Amino acid sequence: MLVDEFGRTRVARVIAETLSTARRDSATTDFKLPSEDELLANTRSLLSAANPSLKTVLNLTGTILHTNLGRASLPQVALDAVQRVAGSPSNLEFDLETGKRGDRDQPLEHLLKEITGAEAATVVNNNAAAVMLVLNTFALGQDVPVSRGELVEIGGSFRVPEIMTRSGCRLVEVGATNRTRLSDFKAAITDQTAMLMKVHTSNYQIQGFTESVAEKDLAALAHEFDLPFMTDLGSGTLVNLSQYGLPPEPTVQEAVESGADIVTFSGDKLLGGPQAGLIVGTAKAIALIKQNPMKRALRVDKMTLAALIAVLKLYLTPETLVEHLPTLRDLARSEAEIKQFGDTLLPAVTAHLGQDFDAALVNAKSQIGSGALPIDLLPTWAIAISARGTTHPNEAIMSLATRLRQIDTPILGRITGSRLLLDLRTLYSPERLLAGLKAVNAG
Ligand SMILES: *Cc1c(COP(=O)(O)O)cnc(C)c1O
Repeated sequence: MLVDEFGRTRVARVIAETLSTARRDSATTDFKLPSEDELLANTRSLLSAANPSLKTVLNLTGTILHTNLGRASLPQVALDAVQRVAGSPSNLEFDLETGKRGDRDQPLEHLLKEITGAEAATVVNNNAAAVMLVLNTFALGQDVPVSRGELVEIGGSFRVPEIMTRSGCRLVEVGATNRTRLSDFKAAITDQTAMLMKVHTSNYQIQGFTESVAEKDLAALAHEFDLPFMTDLGSGTLVNLSQYGLPPEPTVQEAVESGADIVTFSGDKLLGGPQAGLIVGTAKAIALIKQNPMKRALRVDKMTLAALIAVLKLYLTPETLVEHLPTLRDLARSEAEIKQFGDTLLPAVTAHLGQDFDAALVNAKSQIGSGALPIDLLPTWAIAISARGTTHPNEAIMSLATRLRQIDTPILGRITGSRLLLDLRTLYSPERLLAGLKAVNAG
């Protein structure tokens, strides 16, 4: 019954709306009295349309950290931690020893200090917020020199020049797009300079005749002039990824070691946690950041903190990280394992697809996504679906992809030419895929 599903209040409201529309339309000449069934169907479709929710999807796009699909999936320990603190009061900002007010950053800071070697740490809503907060704390109304090769845009809305303006500081462009030297930075420093900044070029690479200034040299130059030096790592990682056969990405530990006073990075990119912006650095710098009133406006919720703490704890035992952290598990999954999974899965997929489509296991490339390691693609295996016996294979595939988006657990792949590719790197059990294919066939 509609009332069971949507509640009496909403059903009554939608029926009233439906009837009043029918009454209004009855004045028109071509009006036909709707049947009871039609009125009921109309009411149901209005109620369903007005029932918004976030759905889980099967991400078989081949982009592992897909920003539009919510980036990192959290490990079970983090889900448990979120559930615990979300449904109950907690000691979020309460010191159980003294009975006085506590600092909500403290457990997280403790972990980040141990993992990164930094003196202090704090956290805000996302990395864009972290960058804004740092700039606003140290450079309000002042100049910040940045290399012309590092004026990054991430996903359309984070652009370094615009973030700098909105943070209240002036960007001073230094060097050329392909080459920036230490002497360029030195020449740019004036009594208006507040800090030096380096931005990791997360989503592009400048190749050929290039030169950029290493973090340790920029840090040394900044300190020579008594200025703080910040580096925005973007993704950042807390482990050396090459041990998993992945392309190297700068680690937070390296940035700290190079002498950076402030390092910013995302919680939900390679780190594999919830959306958050982490800031580590010297005790002095972090103390100033925490005193900025904007910190309060950008602070994270208890659910985020609980998830982040649970994820960071996994990094204390790096030897078992890959088993427990979904992001790393996906990234490190071997091509051979994916192929083996695909070989076993293929016959069932073919059977569920029915007569109109063919499926084959093909070699493909996965992307890490979220601007991390953009150039490097991971070899993978995908199920390639193509249309059979039609003169319009592209339309048939587009229509299949559309229908796969409209089922209860939508299945998202990527279309290349006239094939729909379902990347198997991020699939571990066949049930949801097969159920989805069956649903599409039945409908
Ligand atoms: C991703 C990224 C950001 C923004 O981080 P969010 O967590 O998405 O807000 C900022 N700087 C760089 C270099 C990035 O790669």
